[in-house]
Amino acid sequence: MRTEPLSIALVSVHGCPLARLGERDTGGMNVYLLQLAKELGEKGIRADVFTRYHDPKDPQVVELGPNARVIHIEAGSWHEAKNDIYPLLPEFVDNMVRFQESNGLDYDLYHSHYWLSGQAVSMLNGDYAIPHVASFHTLGEAKVRARPAEIESDLRIRSERAILNQADQIVAVSEHERLNMIDYYDAPPDKIRVIPCGVDMDTFRPLDKGESRRELGIGDSKVLLFVGRVQPLKGPELLLRAVANLKKREGLRLLIVGGDEEGDAEINKLRKLAQELDITRMVSFEGVVQQKRLSLYYNAADVCIVPSYYESFGLVAAEALACGTPVIAARVGGLRETVTDGVNGYLIPSRSPEAFAERIDLLLDNDYLCNALGARARTSVQRLDWPIVADQIATLYGSLALASS
Ligand code: UDP
Repeated sequence: MRTEPLSIALVSVHGCPLARLGERDTGGMNVYLLQLAKELGEKGIRADVFTRYHDPKDPQVVELGPNARVIHIEAGSWHEAKNDIYPLLPEFVDNMVRFQESNGLDYDLYHSHYWLSGQAVSMLNGDYAIPHVASFHTLGEAKVRARPAEIESDLRIRSERAILNQADQIVAVSEHERLNMIDYYDAPPDKIRVIPCGVDMDTFRPLDKGESRRELGIGDSKVLLFVGRVQPLKGPELLLRAVANLKKREGLRLLIVGGDEEGDAEINKLRKLAQELDITRMVSFEGVVQQKRLSLYYNAADVCIVPSYYESFGLVAAEALACGTPVIAARVGGLRETVTDGVNGYLIPSRSPEAFAERIDLLLDNDYLCNALGARARTSVQRLDWPIVADQIATLYGSLALASS
């Protein structure tokens, strides 16, 4: 029987757990990796996250907590954009192997995150036949089908198909993602396990609404909240149009968290649209907000709106619910598994601003209803508490390591 602790390499070529969240390419996956590595470490599993150097000021190795580290690996210049990383994978893999060898590191398995990392692990496994668990976080084919204006390369789609068919085990974060893997990529169903994303239930917890608002300098108005990377796929434009339908409501405010306040092309587009819709006075762009402070925003809001075209999981909805704030979300992807219509919020089946506005109006007009949905919100996501989710992942690792030893 195996007695030594498990040792896992989490490979995330482009998503460093230490990166600033809410910018163009940083969001749920970075949060996930940070939390997963820390939780595994707490359980006595060694978890090293291998990621590309993205800031020359960073040390190569950063301790995250007991048994958990980030290891920065050089590949190309530090400011390379995500779309230019593919040709750098051989260099990443060589440098990762060199680091492993010079530090005497052996791993029981590789867990790759996103298709680029899945490719990196396939290259690595030319040298080492170590079990490969693959997570995708988003699937190119699913994005394109959800919003045809999204452009994804054939290379990405082909790579995803190859990884899904070669990996020893696949983690899907929702039932919806599992079905996409099977329907769009012919992934072998018996290799897929659905394990949801975790939520940090300590960081995201109910706080006094009045105090949260005072901290943020928000007065006594009704407040809607959007949080996330400010990208068309997240549907912020639809939300502005919904708010334009609610102009008659005195003092209604929409806070948009995420994206750079200045110089961000998507934010500038939204500012322009707000002007055209004559709702500038109702909308504020808060820029990127750190997770600890984000909890104040969720608590200050009456409703959190998630109007995305596509979410494999959708952490923002789960975080808002953990704070006791109802969510009105598009009825897409993993959001359908977190938000239950009429229980902790509403799911909107169409991309019509009027449909969103109608539900927002309903909740803002009815404190009793809003409070009733909010009261059920936190318990509805209790199953996503990180220790519970990390246990499921650790069990999966354990059974794979056992099978291969
Ligand atoms: N986030 C943050 N600060 C911001 C904007 C977003 O910390 O200014 C975090 C948010 O709390 C969530 C993540 O970024 O944990 C977004 O995850 P989600 O799954 O909703 O979207 P993704 O980025 O994965 O598409």
